[in-house]
Amino acid sequence: MIISDQEFGEVVVRKSPLVRGVKFSISTSGRLQMSVPAYTSEFLAKRFLNSSRDAIRKNLPVKNPSEQKARDYQKKVLMKKAREYLPYRLEYYAKLYGYSYDKCRLTHASTRWGSCSSQRTISLNIGLMKVPEPLRDYVILHELAHLNHMDHSKAFWAEVGEHDRNYKSHEKKLKMFNPGV
Ligand SMILES: [Zn+2]
Repeated sequence: MIISDQEFGEVVVRKSPLVRGVKFSISTSGRLQMSVPAYTSEFLAKRFLNSSRDAIRKNLPVKNPSEQKARDYQKKVLMKKAREYLPYRLEYYAKLYGYSYDKCRLTHASTRWGSCSSQRTISLNIGLMKVPEPLRDYVILHELAHLNHMDHSKAFWAEVGEHDRNYKSHEKKLKMFNPGV
């Protein structure tokens, strides 16, 4: 359920049979989020919200409604760009260097640029579309190397270095960017 609130914009209401009281938090989009018991009506949720305004203002960094919308839009644009690019770039390097992975997944809520699971799924953060191409390629090559080494051992870095001679400086430069969208 989503409540439209004058002050906080869209408030996401999550109902759960396990929740007892009401808990407020911030979603990845900067929206106010409230967890409430499953039986809570919209009327009741609004009443909880009203009685908690002061505490929310004091304690939670709710983004204002126009920022929430701007972020949604930015995410949509990045996702579209990422979808048209990252899976193909990954496939390109996999073919070039003889890797086989199972799936490519695009993520956005993560604080990581990428990951590689033991099921051989490679996840890439859509925030990669905001960083310079050599850094983006480095992340892809890094995750591909994890298909052979599920750790950051010497052998792993040696393999990354075979495909990206500047991996050390790329790793360092990546720290100047934030994977969050
Ligand atoms: Zn790694």
